[in-house]
Amino acid sequence: MSETLRLARAHFPVTALGYGRRLGLWVQGCPLACPGCIAKDTWDPAGGVEVDAGDLLDDVRRAVAAGADGLTVSGGEPLLQAAALGSLLRGVRELSESFDVLLYTGFDFTELDRAQRATAELVDVLITGRYVATAPTKRIWRGSANQEMLLRTPLAQERYTEFLEYEPEAPPIQIETSADGRAWWVGVPNHPNTKRELDRTLAALGYTVESVSWRRR
Ligand code: SF4
Repeated sequence: MSETLRLARAHFPVTALGYGRRLGLWVQGCPLACPGCIAKDTWDPAGGVEVDAGDLLDDVRRAVAAGADGLTVSGGEPLLQAAALGSLLRGVRELSESFDVLLYTGFDFTELDRAQRATAELVDVLITGRYVATAPTKRIWRGSANQEMLLRTPLAQERYTEFLEYEPEAPPIQIETSADGRAWWVGVPNHPNTKRELDRTLAALGYTVESVSWRRR
């Protein structure tokens, strides 16, 4: 596997972006520029770090061995790196039948070109569509009402059907802190002000608020 993926960050375990405990990968680079995007730091296609897809597959293997339920790929726009991501996902597919892959894309399915579609077809769950700040939703794991959650495999249907229309009282938000005073959070807020409020609250508690950072285990 010789391809590289440009990543913004990675984290394990992620508990707020899909079923169970997951490895989360945030792909770097997005030209879609949705107003109100909470991940603007992932827009620059030259940002982040280049990571060998084979090394990433080793990370997934370690997550599987640690009991992870799945992999969530977000961004940035993951399908702008469809070839390298496809290589990684073909390897992931061979690891475990009970490990699901959830992919966020800002594209609608009908906008995908052939290569992007081939990569999208390797995942169990696709969440599609731009973030539209003026179309809020309370549906879990989606940022706006236009975004669709497509269940593509029997594993996806088994795990996610009950969540298709599920509206929790508050969206799942995972907050992580470190002993040296840093904090970061993961999740899909359902209100445009939530990011600012979370950042402000963590700062008021004395933390330096960061994005989930890239780190190898
Ligand atoms: S597609 Fe996602 S990462 Fe890209 S601008 Fe829209 S919300 Fe942000």
